[in-house]
Amino acid sequence: MRVVIAGAGLAGLSCAKYLADAGHTPLVYEARDVLGGKVAAWKDEDGDWYETGLHIFFGAYPNMLQLFHELDIEERLQWKSHSMIFNQPEEPGTYSRFDFPDLPAPINGVAAILGNNDMLNWQEKISFGLGLLPAMIRGQEYVEECDKYSWSEWLRLQNIPERVNDEVFIAMSKALNFIGPDEISSTVLLTALNRFLQEKNGSKMAFLDGAPPERLCQPIVDHIQSLGGEVHLRNPLREIKLREDGTVSSFLVGGVDGQKLQDVEADAFVSALPVDLLKLLLPEAWKSMDIFRKLDGLRGVPVINIHLWFDRKLTNIDHLLFSRSPLLSVYADMSIACKEYEDPDRSMLELVFAPAKDWIHRSDEDIIEATMGELKKLFPMHFSGDDQAKLRKFKVIKTPLSVYKAIPGCQELRPSQKTPIPNFFLAGDYTMQRYLASMEGAVLSGKLCAEVIHSNKEDLPNSQSAFEASAS
Ligand SMILES: Cc1cc2nc3c(=O)[nH]c(=O)nc-3n(C[C@H](O)[C@H](O)[C@H](O)COP(=O)(O)OP(=O)(O)OC[C@H]3O[C@@H](n4cnc5c(N)ncnc54)[C@H](O)[C@@H]3O)c2cc1C
Repeated sequence: MRVVIAGAGLAGLSCAKYLADAGHTPLVYEARDVLGGKVAAWKDEDGDWYETGLHIFFGAYPNMLQLFHELDIEERLQWKSHSMIFNQPEEPGTYSRFDFPDLPAPINGVAAILGNNDMLNWQEKISFGLGLLPAMIRGQEYVEECDKYSWSEWLRLQNIPERVNDEVFIAMSKALNFIGPDEISSTVLLTALNRFLQEKNGSKMAFLDGAPPERLCQPIVDHIQSLGGEVHLRNPLREIKLREDGTVSSFLVGGVDGQKLQDVEADAFVSALPVDLLKLLLPEAWKSMDIFRKLDGLRGVPVINIHLWFDRKLTNIDHLLFSRSPLLSVYADMSIACKEYEDPDRSMLELVFAPAKDWIHRSDEDIIEATMGELKKLFPMHFSGDDQAKLRKFKVIKTPLSVYKAIPGCQELRPSQKTPIPNFFLAGDYTMQRYLASMEGAVLSGKLCAEVIHSNKEDLPNSQSAFEASAS
């Protein structure tokens, strides 16, 4: 069976991989000249990589880890110590750690929380632990019910002191969805906490050993091609063409740099586009359908990824750090954390700037100036006195519409991979799966999409004869 997939982010590539594994022929058409979508990366004129986002892989990502295993590239994940490390704003240049001992879950998580006395006092730890009990006991059903509350509302309902937010959850909610706890749905944080506390290695973090397009996406493409599938870059989907009965007849793709437009026909069609771009391409005839109408409520959130190359080492910490800065979210020294970006003498900091709503339209220079102001608090020893660290170069990557903004009420709007159109399917981190907007969510959505296509293959309106006629 031929399946055409628009979009070569992790969702589209995962969908193609699992379709190829099931004996089908996936044809992927990607708009840009780079694989990976939100994990895309590029090399600058010096050969240094810069990325759409600083990306962390978690132990709680079963489908992603399975994918690495199936591609035989597991050694490319560089696992870090099982810890969460936060900057301490009131004591610039110092850190507070949650260290998870090598014990079964949830004992290791409880020990990590009890062992940290810098951020939460005993009363806060106890009231937070009691507040989490319903989520741990009732599981996902309770977590989903809580989608009506923001995280701050949920904390107030559980009588958990506001200070817990200031100390831990502003940082975590910015890390998970690039917005603050007053905006984010409590479902997002409860889902993450449940995974982190219920799985022994759930919160353990890994960095990829190089740039995602080469180190993760390319092996998926090689696998797809080895099974007869195709991946075409610089081939945007322009139009979803319909038959009279409202099913898809073809994807109109191409038209970049004088290249011809072509109608690609197939047995099944998949959008693995981000939700904001799919909405622009939806055929008029579908727009009033419940599943597509609800997409109006899903909208990408702005975020900025910053790369700073310095003339010296600023830190020796080989881990992700939660900055707890009002402007920044998480950051890491990639010259230590990532093998391919290694530099023994000079730091390359990669930082996520969020929330970015008020900054996304500002100039790169303004953003860098504000970031450097924050770095003076994170690394005071390198930005005071006579011999201060010098910024050699920088790169700012803005994503005005990134992952969907996970505010209360979104869960109900997220579509399934199967749509009412018998030969049209959806993949993408915004589609319904339990890992929300993440790389794991994208990979799982693609896998679920491939499964639903495979299991519905008997019910697809067969376009094979039409395809053969047009090809001859
Ligand atoms: C700054 C940042 C940091 C992040 N950090 C993490 C992290 O630490 N851990 C984590 O798990 N997740 C993280 N994420 C989220 C993660 O990157 C995404 O959830 C995931 O990559 C989304 O994959 P996707 O395939 O659903 O969508 P996308 O990656 O957006 O893929 C969609 C693809 O469709 C293509 N496309 C668009 N229009 C067309 C068209 N007309 N025709 C054909 N193709 C088209 C796009 O170019 C793109 O390649 C982060 C994201 C960002 C932006």
